Amino acid sequence: LPVLAIVGRPNVGKSTLVNRVLGRREAVVEDVPGVTRDRVRYETEWAGRRFVVVDTGGWEHDAKGLAGRVAEQAEIAIELADAVLFVVDGQVGATATDEAVVKLLRRTKKPVILAANKVDDTRGELEAASLWSLGLGEPYPVSALHGRGSGDLLDAVLAALPEVSAVGEERATGLRRVALLGRPNVGKSSLLNALAGENRVVVDSTAGTTRDPVDEIIDINGRQWQFVDTAGIRRRVHLTRGADFYASLRTHAALEKAEVAVILLDSSEPLSEQDQRIISMVQESGRAMVIAYNKWDLMDEERRKFLEREFETDLVQIQWAPRINVSASTKWHVNRLTPALDTALESWETRVPTGKLNSLLAEIMQSHPHPVRGGKQPRILYGSQVSTKPPRFVLFTSGFFEAGYRRFIERRLRETFGFEGTPIEVSVRPRE
Ligand code: GDP
Repeated sequence: LPVLAIVGRPNVGKSTLVNRVLGRREAVVEDVPGVTRDRVRYETEWAGRRFVVVDTGGWEHDAKGLAGRVAEQAEIAIELADAVLFVVDGQVGATATDEAVVKLLRRTKKPVILAANKVDDTRGELEAASLWSLGLGEPYPVSALHGRGSGDLLDAVLAALPEVSAVGEERATGLRRVALLGRPNVGKSSLLNALAGENRVVVDSTAGTTRDPVDEIIDINGRQWQFVDTAGIRRRVHLTRGADFYASLRTHAALEKAEVAVILLDSSEPLSEQDQRIISMVQESGRAMVIAYNKWDLMDEERRKFLEREFETDLVQIQWAPRINVSASTKWHVNRLTPALDTALESWETRVPTGKLNSLLAEIMQSHPHPVRGGKQPRILYGSQVSTKPPRFVLFTSGFFEAGYRRFIERRLRETFGFEGTPIEVSVRPRE
């Protein structure tokens, strides 16, 4: 989906405008247990077109160095979005802080829409017209609070957004696309170096923006793989605030492009909240997944035992992911990565024939039927795999199914068909 980023100083009314844009149309996302949602990206729809809104308001609240912070916001927004909505306070006009952002926005070739917020009446509209002088095109006067002008603004946004996102676009390289994810210092750069040495080719540096995500094609044992957004791995971003927010935007962007994610964990450090957040994001994305424990050269017996237990308790939700232990610095077992990626990708694309699926379901109905509820016996009438990448199944049933029973079916599907390295989804459609 195309991505719109909203940029502006604190207090210009970005959040109100975001709420106005989203209205009630915000996507309802299924509740996945163990998944913490970060409120960074919102899916929405206007005039029948779906797009994603990124509110860069996530890292405000810092009086010191405000201009720098807002400029930083703008840079990141330019990098990760297809179009930028720049909001200024129409009652105040453009401030010095705004000017810094204007400079950046004038340089980008990405479309910029200028909104003058807090314009509640016709007189204000006339004043807002003076913002033509910023050189960002027509200023759209709006009142986020009252809704005035928001229809015109949204039309302008739609006109500016491409049909298909260029930031999450599939490159036509025909190679498998891998996102290498992990918190700072787990060894992502080291692993890339261990895999590639000098054999890397940089692709996808679209001209015209200040900083674009860059992919690298890496030859591993004679086969080429596309590691997406490796520039984001190499570039050290030291934000005083909002570093998490930035990292999570980056992770989303990389996942959008990738087919499979490698989650790198530091085997010498405790599992952190950030690790869990990355895992949740991958789960939500529906991409295939491989877990790699790095820095295994530092391992001792006690720690190893602890990790085994931790993998079975704290990471119980992703027991299906292939797991490898590596040392990027000594290159130990680094060659096990691509076989694990192959396994995960193969599962991700598996299609179970309808006949086979329904014999399994019939067998389950025989041996472990759903418990009788209110004198009724809910049954599966028919099952079908509705998609691959990842495999999604729909079960048409008589009566409602308990969540526990749905999970039981999910386990049986995994036992029978494997699915190592891919999330699967089982939804139930009761026919009453
Ligand atoms: P990134 O932030 O994820 O890209 O992490 P880096 O690749 O920059 O690595 C962070 C630090 O961990 C560096 O000091 C590396 O030398 C060290 N490191 C990376 N991989 C290993 C490993 O397998 N074993 C050990 N002992 N140290 C490692």
